[in-house]
Amino acid sequence: MPPTTHTKQEEDAFMTDLFAGLNDSFFDSCPEPSPVRPSHSASTTRAAKPTTQATPSKPKIAKPMLRVAKTPSKALSKKANAPCKEEDVDMAFLADGLASWDDMEGDLMTPKKEKKAVTRMLPSTSSDSVRETCTRCIVDQIEEKALTVIAVETKDRRTVILEDDWYRTDIRLGDVINTIGPFSPASTSSLLTIHITNNSNLLIHHPDILLTATAISNAPKCRRKPLLTNLVRSIFSSTPTIDDKGVERKGDGSSPALVWGNMLHEVMQSCLKEGKWEDDWIDKCIMEKVGSVNGLGELVRIGVGVEEAVREVKERAKGLKGFGERYVGDVPKEVGVLVNTRSKGVENSMLAIRKLEDVEEDILSPSYGLRGKLDASVQAVIQDRNVVSTTKKSGPANKNSNVKLGASSNRTPTLAPPTTQTHTLAPFEIKTGRSIAGLEHRAQTMLYTLLMEERYGEKVESGLLYYTQSEEVVRVPRARNEVRALIGVRNEMAGFLGRGRGKGKGQLGEDKGKGKEEMGEEEKRFLPETIDDEWVCGKCYVVDTCMLYRKAVENVFDDSSPIANIYALKTGHLTPSQGEFFKKWEELISIEEQDAVRFKKELWTMGAKEREDRGRCFGDMVLDEGFVEREEEKETRRESKIHQFTYRFVRRRGGEEGSLLNGHMSCGDAINVSVEPDLLALARGFIVELTPTEVVVGVDHEIRLEMIRKRVGLWDEGDDIFGGGRGKGGGELVFRIDKDEMFAGMGRIRDNLAHLFYAQGDTRRLHLVVDLAPPRFFDIDPSPSPSSDCETSAAIAKFSKGLNGDQLGAMNKVLAAQDYACILGMPGTGKTTVIAAIIKVLVELGKSVLLTSYTHSAVDTILGKLAGKEEDGDVGFGILRLGNVDKVHPDVRRFTLEARKPATTIQQLEHQIMTPPIVATTCLSIDHTSARKGGLDVSLFRRLSEAHPEAVVDLTHQYRMNADIMLLSNKLIYGDRLRCGSEEVRRRALVLPERRVVEDSHAQTACGKDDCWLNQLMSESCKAVFVDTDLVPARDSRIGDLVQNEIEANLVYQVTEALLKGGVSQDQIGIISLYRQQIKLIGNLLKERKEVEILTADKSQGRDKDCVVISMVRSNDDGQIGDLVRDWRRMNVSFTRAKSKLIIFGSRSTLQATPLLSQFFQLMDGQGWILRLPANAHEMHAPVLRKTSMKRSVEELDKVVVLKENVVGSGRPMKKMKKGKAEEGLLKGRPILKDLVNDGR
Ligand code: SF4
Ligand SMILES: [Zn+2]
Repeated sequence: MPPTTHTKQEEDAFMTDLFAGLNDSFFDSCPEPSPVRPSHSASTTRAAKPTTQATPSKPKIAKPMLRVAKTPSKALSKKANAPCKEEDVDMAFLADGLASWDDMEGDLMTPKKEKKAVTRMLPSTSSDSVRETCTRCIVDQIEEKALTVIAVETKDRRTVILEDDWYRTDIRLGDVINTIGPFSPASTSSLLTIHITNNSNLLIHHPDILLTATAISNAPKCRRKPLLTNLVRSIFSSTPTIDDKGVERKGDGSSPALVWGNMLHEVMQSCLKEGKWEDDWIDKCIMEKVGSVNGLGELVRIGVGVEEAVREVKERAKGLKGFGERYVGDVPKEVGVLVNTRSKGVENSMLAIRKLEDVEEDILSPSYGLRGKLDASVQAVIQDRNVVSTTKKSGPANKNSNVKLGASSNRTPTLAPPTTQTHTLAPFEIKTGRSIAGLEHRAQTMLYTLLMEERYGEKVESGLLYYTQSEEVVRVPRARNEVRALIGVRNEMAGFLGRGRGKGKGQLGEDKGKGKEEMGEEEKRFLPETIDDEWVCGKCYVVDTCMLYRKAVENVFDDSSPIANIYALKTGHLTPSQGEFFKKWEELISIEEQDAVRFKKELWTMGAKEREDRGRCFGDMVLDEGFVEREEEKETRRESKIHQFTYRFVRRRGGEEGSLLNGHMSCGDAINVSVEPDLLALARGFIVELTPTEVVVGVDHEIRLEMIRKRVGLWDEGDDIFGGGRGKGGGELVFRIDKDEMFAGMGRIRDNLAHLFYAQGDTRRLHLVVDLAPPRFFDIDPSPSPSSDCETSAAIAKFSKGLNGDQLGAMNKVLAAQDYACILGMPGTGKTTVIAAIIKVLVELGKSVLLTSYTHSAVDTILGKLAGKEEDGDVGFGILRLGNVDKVHPDVRRFTLEARKPATTIQQLEHQIMTPPIVATTCLSIDHTSARKGGLDVSLFRRLSEAHPEAVVDLTHQYRMNADIMLLSNKLIYGDRLRCGSEEVRRRALVLPERRVVEDSHAQTACGKDDCWLNQLMSESCKAVFVDTDLVPARDSRIGDLVQNEIEANLVYQVTEALLKGGVSQDQIGIISLYRQQIKLIGNLLKERKEVEILTADKSQGRDKDCVVISMVRSNDDGQIGDLVRDWRRMNVSFTRAKSKLIIFGSRSTLQATPLLSQFFQLMDGQGWILRLPANAHEMHAPVLRKTSMKRSVEELDKVVVLKENVVGSGRPMKKMKKGKAEEGLLKGRPILKDLVNDGR
């Protein structure tokens, strides 16, 4: 059905849906479309609702609710967005309260001190631009329809009057709103005032929630559906065209029609890009798309061959050549008809597409709270002319109907000569389906005009829709009424998203005092109600998810609504405990998600400098135009959808700004590139290389400087003098590169979770994981011969050489498992070895194996063990390593799809994908304190092994730690299950070959004692020790949110130097800290000692060192231990990296205050393993070991050279530490595995 055949009734129905719940005043006040409200919408007329509706429909929009935020004045005094010069930035203010993520749990909107604010980000009052005036405000007072707000930028109080339909917007105290339109002085009030009415201005509620244009345009039918789609994102919907284009997908999203549609999109985009429309070229594009690895992948999924695919796409691409002929060029041609379905009079226009600006532009608009991905952004020329007369009479009844000038037209209009010619920017949307959803397309396109206008800073008054099947181009003029209605829908949806879930986090500046428990059901609701339309719901593609939420999360029991049957069909199988399980985990995922949401909005609410201070941005960057990418690099990203272009950015001021290595961004991290304030996330991608002054990124969009200059008003065409404007830095374009917080999102995780609970879901896994059904094992005799089956025995014999008893036991357990078996591989027990052996046996037996872990390094270590070195020849069986090539270890990159010869046929691709018996990839992990507390850190391993200890087999013999170090981890983590693999391991000690040198050096120091702290630490008998710095002035300090402890760093440095002087080699020593800034400090002190590894707790995984020195950093009067609370167990695991000596530096008084750590101190005390440093410990051995001035900056420290050698003195071994019976430790009263951490992270 072509778009132009929408009836008047259909259009009205659409508008009625759009305006559902809005005040009737709308219909009184708007001249068009017709105010006639049909009694039924187009969809509902097909299946009238039974009258026995269980839940009578309620008004969709509630009256404004007056609720008093507990800390309104605080929440309202946010100063963050006011413009100010860089030198105004008050570092202390910025750093204050940001010491750790834990501190950031609080409301970011609440400043700790009344201080100056930082760089303005939101586009606002700028006279040089067509961008609408946007004012970010926080609601301070609500009185009937008048809101008193605080303008965030200027900090003054203003009045917002909500009139007409806006009156019903559900605004609450503390909410963030944007007003679009100018404020002006009012006669009735001393405050600047804006009236938001049906005819002027707009209100954006919760503008930081960016809803996609697609979601909004799909909302008229059902508001709930787009929100669910957003929440639970199917894996297959990640294909951009499906994801954002609102194309309805069937089940897993892979319908042939969609695949053809997506390919056609890409083909047409290629034509637009190249400006080529000949048959040969189009055929070539089709072959390329179909034959690309991605294309073939799609075909494998839908089970269609290449030939058929080519035929299908060609069939659909038939009109492209004609499109090129009719519409592409500098001036409109007679045949380039542009249809306007809403034109008032009878008029007709012609179109020429003059220039392509971009394809797949992903535009974020924090002004409108919108985002969208445009198929194409074009420069168009439109020629309008009026039709003088037609052969049919026109009257009121068909005044809105279309004039169609295609071949099939039955009208014969007489055209007047061309009148006006307009050059304009326009979003260009390609629609490949039969356009039954044409009206939704219009809504979407209209929203795109807003987005484009904001990004380009030029007027965009209408959008273009191209229907490939009817070969028509439709003009969609932006209409105030529709935009207003769409924004109303947006606000309603954002209202749902902004409450309920946002609660307790202060995320949106709302009432954060109220806990979830205290909220009423209505307040907790974060999804609109079901529409209860049997026909619509019956064919809805998210019906499974919808019903699952209805039952498990919303606790609705439905046996009488029109969709009761559907409800029963979809949820009848779920038990109450299964529902509870889903609800709990769904909530935990949302908590986890909130961090990402909060960080994400920093892109527009926080200036680059401020965000850089928090470690999540590189500000002040300029493009290095001389950069040329290496050829090999190009090769590896051949098929990458994201990594299309590679750029190098450098610091504008040559690095004065500080090292890029500071902060939380590193190689492989997802990023986006922006120019403040309007061009947000111009390009997205990954960090490919990072040095202190340069960053190389791989991104999805081309960064064209001239174009950007033009858009930010920095440079007009033909001008070589840089004009004033934004993004300017001495004539240069200044970029910011931000960590992209929502790159992956949690949609897939939710989707995976939900799949367990669907009616056609994974019931076996549901029983095993949720119901904890006992796992089944084949009955095999575990020893001496594990199996009576010869083949199995032979395979075991072949690959089990060198395994110990534990390891063989583990292998047998796995082979006997029908469902699962858990191997508890404690550190140093040879997990990697046994996993590799088991995989080999399984493959030998013809099984397929999925190898996964939270970290790339863990996966790649095992692959490395399996495969051996590349030079040593092939592995003998196939491995497919999935994942971002940039993150895969170079040694195993040859197993990625990218490293193979690109498949050219489905058979080849299938061979590459389906034949390798081993598929290896990472899985996701969770990292949020609240979510952890709620139980999100309960690994599957822990859940299963606690429920079914019979499924667990231990590897208990470790070959790494000596008895003391093992004791520590046995008590703290492993419940006394670890054993030393041999006597030699048990007695292991670090002997300093040149101990005398250290002792002798004392003569020249202030120390002069034999049993000084340093000598005690050097002693062979000192194998595990906590070095208490309480008496030393070793206090933590902050740089932004980064924490460090300079004196402790120096103590660590001294110990390390002493060890090295004593003859320990550099590679025997590892230094670990949770704090990156501390690592940088220590790294700088030890920069001459390149082989000493200085690592974060995470990075230390998989390593072992004879001596490990740990710096706990935290030392303060408030008992602030920040990250440690979260990472204590990870820290424990890093203790197990030490083979012979473990030295832990920290402040006992600070750390002990936390119950979690007090148990650690009990243990250390009991063993007599605490060494209290004297007050001058850090100075005692000066000048021999101490670097000079503590207060100097890291840069200065670089220049200081230390160390005098050959100092004479004497020493005596450290006095024997008191041994006591160890406490039961942290695991007292807990299940053995409770604290098992994912060793291998
Ligand atoms: S099943 Fe019905 S109520 Fe649920 S999302 Fe789909 S259309 Fe909306
Ligand atoms: Zn000494």
